[in-house]
Amino acid sequence: MPLPNKLKMKRNYHTHHHLCGHATGNAEEYIKEAIKQRFDTLGFSDHAPNYRVNDFGVRMRETDLPDYLKDINKAKQKYAGKIKIYTGLEVEYFDDHEEYYQNLHEKLDYMIHGQHYISMTNSMNDLISGFALTKPAQILKYVEYLEKAMSSGHFAMLAHPDLYMCGYKNFDETAKIVAHRICKMASELGVILEFNANGYRRGISKTPQGELQPYPRLEFWEIAKSYNCKTIFNSDCHAPEILYDRIVKKAEDVYLKLELNDVGKVDFE
Ligand SMILES: [Zn+2]
Ligand SMILES: [Zn+2]
Repeated sequence: MPLPNKLKMKRNYHTHHHLCGHATGNAEEYIKEAIKQRFDTLGFSDHAPNYRVNDFGVRMRETDLPDYLKDINKAKQKYAGKIKIYTGLEVEYFDDHEEYYQNLHEKLDYMIHGQHYISMTNSMNDLISGFALTKPAQILKYVEYLEKAMSSGHFAMLAHPDLYMCGYKNFDETAKIVAHRICKMASELGVILEFNANGYRRGISKTPQGELQPYPRLEFWEIAKSYNCKTIFNSDCHAPEILYDRIVKKAEDVYLKLELNDVGKVDFE
């Protein structure tokens, strides 16, 4: 008999920061909350600057990156011995960005992949929101981005891999194909898939499968389970006080009931 999964948060690798423009709190404020919640590890992964994506309010500017790193480093020193702190960013996968990823790696402990945009033509000029994919061709393009991201080897984990269901809503044959492709490759490459608690803050909408949050979609996670994919549970909090609040706890209960192949702790040294 496998031991019952005892994860009760204790750590989070998907934490934002006020510099992205739609979150509140600096590194120290998140760390204080994490210590209060008896966490042993906190990883920062705010939205990475990208000079080729002009979406102010969604991500920090390139000129903000040094402040971000300084803010985390200062807190790292101050709280050394009390909690393990990692410096990361949440980053999109785009073709021809190799130098950009190399530059980021030099500054960070890890990168978490989050595909908030795709382009049907693999260009940077006609990006569409990953939250608003409605056509089968669009979610089939989305999975291409995720496959490239996984094969690139740059990312420690995939944030909200089921984000494509946000606009698509119907877990139909194409949605199933997308889920199978993501989970098959994740399982082959040992890439960790994130069950994202923040999806439970995004409201409920009508889908052919019932009134549901946009993600996580349990149909996706049942498929992930069938491939025995490595998984992790993250808060994706955009304010310190909701690092581990009622909504995250509710999401954690759903995650635990699924009995996925939870990796628990990830070390980045
Ligand atoms: Zn955000
Ligand atoms: Zn995200």
